[in-house]
Amino acid sequence: MRKPIIAGNWKMNKTLGEALSFVEEVAGKIPATEKVDAAVCASPLFLASMVEATKGSDLKIGAQNASDKDSGAFTGEVSPVALKDLGVTYVILGHSERREYYGETDEFINNKTKKMFEQGLTPILCCGETLEEREGGKFEEVIRTQLTADLAGLTEEQVKNLVIAYEPIWAIGTGVSATEQDAQDSCKFVREVVADLYNQAAADAVRIQYGGSVKPDNIKEYMAQPDIDGALVGGASLEPSSFLALLEGV
Ligand code: PGA
Repeated sequence: MRKPIIAGNWKMNKTLGEALSFVEEVAGKIPATEKVDAAVCASPLFLASMVEATKGSDLKIGAQNASDKDSGAFTGEVSPVALKDLGVTYVILGHSERREYYGETDEFINNKTKKMFEQGLTPILCCGETLEEREGGKFEEVIRTQLTADLAGLTEEQVKNLVIAYEPIWAIGTGVSATEQDAQDSCKFVREVVADLYNQAAADAVRIQYGGSVKPDNIKEYMAQPDIDGALVGGASLEPSSFLALLEGV
């Protein structure tokens, strides 16, 4: 069966000292590791120190973005080869903030997704619709279009090892979370698209997170849904007690 994964997305928050005091407090306290995978995705500035500080623990470290190239003349980019070398496990790709503010296209996200697998990193691939798209009845079309492009060329085996984060854009950082039924229906639809693009075995294996204003007080309802395999969490992942409470809620 699919093992749930709770991943913190710290975005552009914390200093190195704050990141390290978080991991020092949390790394030894991950509950029920047979039941849940735990990760925090941080600024590349902190990753080396965070990996070092969590060695031998059940808290895995992720990046929030990486280049679609191994190395070279790409000023300001983060090399996936260097991330792998550091001991990073996950890389968030195609977050709506990157799509919206930095113009990332599905083709670019697809190239990065393939590159992460090539380097032995696990992508957390984000998809999701705007409020306008949802209210305009475009949800299915938007998600199908994103996933068809983002997954293009991946092998079935890669898709089985992928994490997809379904994040309705209107729920990110707004405090307005999707109802558990809406989140379930949406994650179920994501799984159906994977089944259409690949097959039922791939759809049954891929882990699908819900993301968007997930908090300790609503995590249980989401986790009770059959197609929700964890959460990608921004604001509520920043404090150790809140992050640990999310894990307890699985
Ligand atoms: P939020 O962010 O939990 O603060 O809504 C989620 C995300 O952007 O991944």
